Amino acid sequence: MTPRDNSEGRSEPDFYRILIGAWAATDLEASLKVIAQGVCDVAGFGVSGLSVLRDSGQLEMVAVAGDPAAEKLLLGTFRPVSELEKDVADSIPWGNSLRFVPHEAVVGREDDLGWVADFEPLDHPDAWLPLNLLFALLHDVEGNLVGSMSVDLPVDGMLPNAERLRLLSRYVNQAAQAVAALLERDRAADHVRLARASRTIVQRASGVFSLDQLIETIQPSIAEGFRAQGMWLQAFDNFGRGRDAIYSTDDREIDLPDWLREVAHDTAEIACERNEIVFISENRPDQVRHQPSHDQAVVFLSTINVETAMLVPLSAGDECMGMLVLCRNPGSPEWNNAEAQWAADLGRDLGRAVFNVRTAERDQQLLAELRALDSYKSQLISTVSHEFKNPLTGILGHLELLEDADVDAEVRRSLDVISRSAGKLESLAQDMLALARAGDPHRRVVALPIDLVAVIDEVIDLNSLEAARRGLRLEVDAPPKALVSAEAADLERICGNLVSNAVKYSRDGGAVAISARVEDSNVILRVRDEGLGISEKDQEQVFTEFFRSSNPEALRMPGTGLGLAIVQRTVRRHGGTIAVASELGKGTTFTVTLPAATARATRDSASGTS
Ligand code: ADP
Repeated sequence: MTPRDNSEGRSEPDFYRILIGAWAATDLEASLKVIAQGVCDVAGFGVSGLSVLRDSGQLEMVAVAGDPAAEKLLLGTFRPVSELEKDVADSIPWGNSLRFVPHEAVVGREDDLGWVADFEPLDHPDAWLPLNLLFALLHDVEGNLVGSMSVDLPVDGMLPNAERLRLLSRYVNQAAQAVAALLERDRAADHVRLARASRTIVQRASGVFSLDQLIETIQPSIAEGFRAQGMWLQAFDNFGRGRDAIYSTDDREIDLPDWLREVAHDTAEIACERNEIVFISENRPDQVRHQPSHDQAVVFLSTINVETAMLVPLSAGDECMGMLVLCRNPGSPEWNNAEAQWAADLGRDLGRAVFNVRTAERDQQLLAELRALDSYKSQLISTVSHEFKNPLTGILGHLELLEDADVDAEVRRSLDVISRSAGKLESLAQDMLALARAGDPHRRVVALPIDLVAVIDEVIDLNSLEAARRGLRLEVDAPPKALVSAEAADLERICGNLVSNAVKYSRDGGAVAISARVEDSNVILRVRDEGLGISEKDQEQVFTEFFRSSNPEALRMPGTGLGLAIVQRTVRRHGGTIAVASELGKGTTFTVTLPAATARATRDSASGTS
């Protein structure tokens, strides 16, 4: 077939201008439309179409210029690449890049074409016929097929002559190169966009502590970065499907049926196991585990205006933490490999984020439960001690009345036993009340500058009789003054308890050393004895309420096991710390660090302000 000479195309510089225009458009589709239009204009064709090869293996018609009817029918349609291969097999090369399939070879395959020009051919041996195909394959610099370009309806109704064919070849060549470059630019831009979005998403995800907050924080970046018009983020919890959020750019309320949730959950678990992404789209069948589920899902998605979805499992190690389903509306491009790759990476990052958030939530819940339990316990202790007090006051009052009563020796002995026991009960009730008060988070510390050295002196006085009785030396090493910011009664209790314990658990004839030191903004109180000592195992529990040592020698001493628990809570209430160092049989040292009173607080208290 020899094309007739009917060349009347426009000049080449025109086409360069068109290519520059195409490059200036930021959107790939808009750029390709400029090129398709340019080919129509300069090469004299009524229709020109550009398809690009998608990662799904289908050719998508992304730009159609010229005939509006053709554009309406063809734009956005998909053809398997095998059909293009068939066209190539039936074609004869024209020039160095064009391929021509004559009308006769296409007869019978009209349905594959999607659109057939409707016109009456000229009565000429070289007339253009309706089923003629003229197209070029588009390759990238490495020779990979990236798409195809086709033209139809020559404006003069004739097959191109030799000169026009030469020009057309040149335009098509240049257009093909431009299309391949534009596709490359688009792919690079995709990578940059996805990388940026992923970074933002991961950054935001790492700063949150609840699943709801996580979902809310990352939604906009995911939608924007992945160009998704909708998304469904489901974070599985420890027991099943957990919490989810559905988001659509047009703010629609979307209700997902239960069967779909179940299919998605199963699919996510399997996808996680296989380390893969699942596409839900008519163009990519066979992705969801059961084909009927896939088809059903595609049909359901179409009712909520979603054409194609990508299900990304969120994984942490082997465990599936949830899933992310990204959705695109009809008319949007198919997901490409780069997007799937970034989505898979993001799935792993988000999986870890969900795992961390889940762990943090579980910890918080546990902490809240423990706090509630602790508060209940304190309340119980406080109530019981209060209830003890009234009858005890009655008993002790009447015992006092009986003190001078004239009773025989046996009754007197009984009264003494009752009195001692009531006394023990009273001190237990007092300790329990003190414990509840020391642990009450609602009680504010009203701290004043208190001189620890003066408190030590008082405590020594209180213990000196007992110390003397047992031949114990009480040694003090302290500066003239050491002002602590504390409540006076609390400081007395801390110091008193530690010293009386040191005395109680010392062997007769030993020494108890009490020291006070001001260090930076702290005051350090140390009480050291050479007594029974505390085993390493017991040291772990000495501050627990009602704990008494397992050492039988220590157990012989009277006690409730509440003293150190009260001391620790009181120290903490004042923002201080307490530590124990001990060796069984050798002695024990308790070290308390409390905030020193600042110069200002001291001045304020001296002038009566607070
Ligand atoms: P208790 O009323 O039993 O003295 P505490 O809470 O004050 O209760 O002390 C808890 C336990 O820690 C005591 O039963 C004792 O075994 C041990 N303990 C406390 N202080 C000393 C010490 N200075 N030396 C040896 N053991 C001590």
